[in-house]
Amino acid sequence: MQHDFDAVVIGAGLSGLYQVYRLREAGFTVQGIESAPDVGGTWYWNCYPGARVDSPSMVYQYWFSDELLAEWNWSERYSPQPELMRYFAHVADRFDLRRNFRFNTRVESAHWDAATRRWTIGTDQGDSFTARYLICCSGILSAPQVPPFEGHEAFSGRIVHTARWPQEGIDYAGKRVGVVGTGATGIQVIQTIAAQVDRLVVFQRTPPFPVAMKNPPHEEADREAWRACFPELRQQLHHTFSGFEWDAIHQPGEWSQLTAQQRRDTMETLWADGSLRFWVGACEEVLTDEAVNAEFAEFVRDKIRARVHDPALAEKLLPRGPFGIARVPLENGYYDAFNRDNVELVDVRATPIERFSANGLIVAGREYPLDLVVLATGFDAGTGALTRIDIRGRDGISLAESWHRDLRSTMGLQVHGFPNMFTVSGPLAPASALCNASTCLQQQVDWVCDCLVALRDSDNSVIEPSAEKEEEWVSHHDELVAATLFSRNNSWYTGANVEGKPRRFLSYPGGVDAYCQQCEDLRINGYPGFEIS
Ligand code: NAP
Repeated sequence: MQHDFDAVVIGAGLSGLYQVYRLREAGFTVQGIESAPDVGGTWYWNCYPGARVDSPSMVYQYWFSDELLAEWNWSERYSPQPELMRYFAHVADRFDLRRNFRFNTRVESAHWDAATRRWTIGTDQGDSFTARYLICCSGILSAPQVPPFEGHEAFSGRIVHTARWPQEGIDYAGKRVGVVGTGATGIQVIQTIAAQVDRLVVFQRTPPFPVAMKNPPHEEADREAWRACFPELRQQLHHTFSGFEWDAIHQPGEWSQLTAQQRRDTMETLWADGSLRFWVGACEEVLTDEAVNAEFAEFVRDKIRARVHDPALAEKLLPRGPFGIARVPLENGYYDAFNRDNVELVDVRATPIERFSANGLIVAGREYPLDLVVLATGFDAGTGALTRIDIRGRDGISLAESWHRDLRSTMGLQVHGFPNMFTVSGPLAPASALCNASTCLQQQVDWVCDCLVALRDSDNSVIEPSAEKEEEWVSHHDELVAATLFSRNNSWYTGANVEGKPRRFLSYPGGVDAYCQQCEDLRINGYPGFEIS
């Protein structure tokens, strides 16, 4: 069995599959390692009821193969998880990608050896591989975050985190179910199971700011219309702020020139699209100007008030604070669930969940009897998948320790001190939260492959960003964040959901277009600021 490779790729999700494909096509030997039994990444693990992508499938897909684009038929605008899994399985089969992966295998360690200029990668199966390049495609949202509620071992029911939902499913029909968490995941679970369970208790700490999704089926004529646009679309996605097929309709400064009625009409038009356009498709001031943001926030609150029959309950569901400084989810029946008699909302902001009892959860001394508790409590995002691996770079420095002190990277692609390690979807790039993830992930995979080819062509084999280059990027990133309302964020976007995690806005806020251009400038100028040998 071969143990020495040009590259080891961690993860068989959207980016890992494509990275392995690109490197193999470029003539590198590559070993993929994946902890799940099969391909799919986030879509493998997040098989909870109602899981669905909220980028349109037509812009979420791979762009590298015209044949694939021509033959795959998306059934609806926003694909459900089972369809995405069928897609990734099809891609893996069509391009024979599984043969390059070791499944059911978790990377536990990766150590840089300066003498051999190679990484040694150890797994939980006792394997040891060496590779010139370590490419982490381990996902932004792949390390589940489980709150430390006491008493869980005494609970007689079942507890499941949404990102570890059993593949065989759970029979929740007719049961008493509690859902903790009302982010994008909790919303999808709640709206999906409400009508099927006996009782649903929703434990809400922070009310979300969702946009109502419109999800029409794709008929053949729709697919043909999309296919006609694919050649322009695959270029266009890199030239917008958020990696979607549209951009903000108003240039900076224009919003304030509109009348109140014109602004309202614009918001209605964007809302009617039933997509994330309402969030990042109006004008940049939504994310930078408190007054403009407040208009959007109030607009969403009005939509919620109109949906929830009981005004007192609607009030509890209303999101406060700025709109869109945390990830905006899409909902499709979420507020209707709260109009049902079998659904109860428990506010756990002022009085947090105390603990599990044998029969359920205890809040403010009251027991909520439950058969199943669903933890839709999110992730140690952006960094968690990597800090849970013992990664050691030059002079044995630990990535986990470095990032626990200060979360830094160079363009979300490499980290100073960790030669030849690449972080596709790493922190401080747009991929981590502020774009149609697949646009950014594919762009980063291409960048990494081009970089490795350039090193090979120039007879070099080591690349690492200099300390100055990294400082330049981190300062640029922080400066952009400071000019937005994101600095007030209190979610996984800033690491605020994980105790002790250093705060820094995870995602580069300068836009996909600007980011792609900077990556391209590096490539054509021979990677200035990176030490190459
Ligand atoms: P999340 O956005 O971090 O939400 C976690 C939820 O759990 C929040 O409501 C949080 O409340 C709550 N929570 C955490 N600990 C708690 C505790 N001890 N007590 C009570 N509540 C607690 O996680 P997520 O919903 O899994 O979503 C993460 C990201 O995944 C999304 O932002 C999105 O990017 C992605 N996602 C995408 C899709 C899609 O494409 N359709 C679907 C699902 C997820 P606080 O807000 O108060 O902390």
